[in-house]
Amino acid sequence: MSMVIPPPPVTTIPVVGGGEFPVRRIYCVGRNYAAHAREMGGDPNRDPPFFFMKPADAIVPNHATVPYPTKTSDYQHEIELVVAIGKGGRDIPVDKALDCVFGYGVGLDMTRRDLQATAKKLQRPWDLSKGFDQSAPCTALSPVSAVGHPGAGAIWLTVNGERRQAGDLADQIWNVAETISYLSGYVELVPGDLIMTGTPEGVGPVQPGDRMHGHIDGLDDLHVTIS
Ligand code: MN
Repeated sequence: MSMVIPPPPVTTIPVVGGGEFPVRRIYCVGRNYAAHAREMGGDPNRDPPFFFMKPADAIVPNHATVPYPTKTSDYQHEIELVVAIGKGGRDIPVDKALDCVFGYGVGLDMTRRDLQATAKKLQRPWDLSKGFDQSAPCTALSPVSAVGHPGAGAIWLTVNGERRQAGDLADQIWNVAETISYLSGYVELVPGDLIMTGTPEGVGPVQPGDRMHGHIDGLDDLHVTIS
C-alpha cells in the first residue's frame, strides 16, 4: 500500500520497568466522585457513568512544560487515575473486567472550563473543551504485575506546593471494573485504549508559570509546568 502522506506517529507512554505502551484512544469518565459531582452542580447519585474522549496525541509525557492553551481564560486541572487496557473485548462482565487492565498511571484531564460551561448551556458537544492539544499529561504506566489493582488510596494534586485536590480512589462512584464493563457495552475496547476515571473535588484554574504535582498512592508522581 502506498501512503499519500506519511502515516502519523504512534503516541506511546513509557512503562515503569521498560517498554512503551502504544495509545489508541482515550476515554474519560465524567463526575465519578460524589463531592466533585456536587461542586459541578450535579447530584451524586449512581446515574450511569457518561464518557467523552480526547485524541490519543493529546498525551503529554511526565515532567513536561505545557503552553497555556488558546481560546480560554479558565484552564483547569483534574487529577485522575488512568487505566491502560491491555486486553480488549465487548460486553465484558464486571468480574472479568480487571483481567483487561495492563497497568495504571496518574493523569490530568486538562479542561477549558469556560468552553465546557458554554457547551453545557447550549447543549453542544464538549470536544474542544476537553479534547484539545496537550490536554492529557500522564505518567509512565505501572503494570498490574508490579502494583496490582489500586482500588483505594490517596489521590491529590498541588499547584505551586498548595493542596488543591484530594480524595481517595475508594470514593469513586463507579470503580474501574464497573467502568470497563459499562464502556465495553458501547464500544469494543482494544489493547492501547486508556480510560481516565474521573476527578475528586477541588478542580480549579492554573496560570502560566504554575507547577502542578499529582499523586496517587503506589504510582509515579506527575509533574507538569504551565508556560
Ligand atoms: Mn475529568
